[in-house]
Amino acid sequence: PAEQGIAIASPLPRKSRQAKVVWRNNVVTVGGDAPVRVQSMTNTDTVDAVETAIQVRQLAQAGSEMVRITVNTPEAAAAVPYIREQLDRMGEYVPLVGDFHYNGHRLLTDYPDCAQALSKYRINPGNVGKGDKKDKQFGQMIEIAAKYDKAVRIGVNWGSLDQEIMAELMDQNSRRAKPWETRQVMYEALITSAITSAELAKNIGLNPDNIILSCKVSGVQDLISVYRELARRCDYALHLGLTEAGMATKGTVASTAALSVLLQEGIGDTIRVSLTPLPGEARTQEVVVASEILQALGLRVFVPSVTACPGCGRTTSTTFQELAKKIDDFLRGEMPVWRTQFPGVEAMKVAVMGCIVNGPGESKHADIGISLPGNGEAPAAPVFIDGEKALTLRGEHIAEEFQTLVLEYVQR
Ligand code: SF4
Repeated sequence: PAEQGIAIASPLPRKSRQAKVVWRNNVVTVGGDAPVRVQSMTNTDTVDAVETAIQVRQLAQAGSEMVRITVNTPEAAAAVPYIREQLDRMGEYVPLVGDFHYNGHRLLTDYPDCAQALSKYRINPGNVGKGDKKDKQFGQMIEIAAKYDKAVRIGVNWGSLDQEIMAELMDQNSRRAKPWETRQVMYEALITSAITSAELAKNIGLNPDNIILSCKVSGVQDLISVYRELARRCDYALHLGLTEAGMATKGTVASTAALSVLLQEGIGDTIRVSLTPLPGEARTQEVVVASEILQALGLRVFVPSVTACPGCGRTTSTTFQELAKKIDDFLRGEMPVWRTQFPGVEAMKVAVMGCIVNGPGESKHADIGISLPGNGEAPAAPVFIDGEKALTLRGEHIAEEFQTLVLEYVQR
């Protein structure tokens, strides 16, 4: 109400079932009252068990709470228990998700050790088989998941959409010619494929709580349209992400735009940011972006945040930008990634500002903040700790001295 002041924006809740993705004592809950989970996928050849285990561990250490690996050949299926074993030996119990297409029914049947070493299976109903074989092969995988009590993501993708469902819906809508209506038929096909497959899995005997759905597309507005409707029609936990988001800035921005709108509406229980890494770029970048999206929306707290001004004509040098980068790297390296949600708890905030225009004000809002001297200002850098002015740094070594103060603050 107006008399209570301006409404404070916060994500809406959506009530969903809760799936459990488990490896040993590590139980990753997805949906229900669980925090929105971050997940990612390796890009190594699964047959190379050592390389894959190393990358899984890197992704997990960056904050990925589940890691998906491709299981596409008998050799890959045979490697999965070894990957699991190596991770266990390192004390890394992040759950592994097997990504199956075309031959998943055969691999899960022929390699029971692989079926058990995985904590969740991703099944794409668009390519489990054609005609009579479709339900049979899908059923075969679901029976194995039910037998070992594994979670399953029924992951529909518009790049590999079930052509039979699409053809049937196009047929029913044959008199429709307008392009947006064809688009709506595609949305309907994606959602129908996911929900009918989930119902089939439930009827076969899979615990419905352990079903997670996704309908991935690569357009921002398409994703929003599809997920709003998917969330309205079912109460399964939802895996959210743009498929083929793209590279670097484009992929990051598109994912952030799409995911933020939906997460604010309470839609999405686990997210993946599918970035195409640039040559030399770490695979873990997609985990960093996913975590930052959740933290920016106030849904999770992972790492301390560094507030830095963009700099302008008042800035005398690049010292403050270098300092901001140094402090950010230092905090990410020193402080553990928080994997749980503490409602009401905010991330530690450090402000590194370029002059006194906004510097002291921003520093007061941070746990610890500094304003470096700007153009024409006295060579002094006031430092605020817990909202109070604590001291002023001067001289050649302001950056180093501030870093020491941040370290002391972290240790306290
Ligand atoms: Fe420019 Fe100062 Fe604002 Fe930074 S705080 S952008 S240096 S006016």
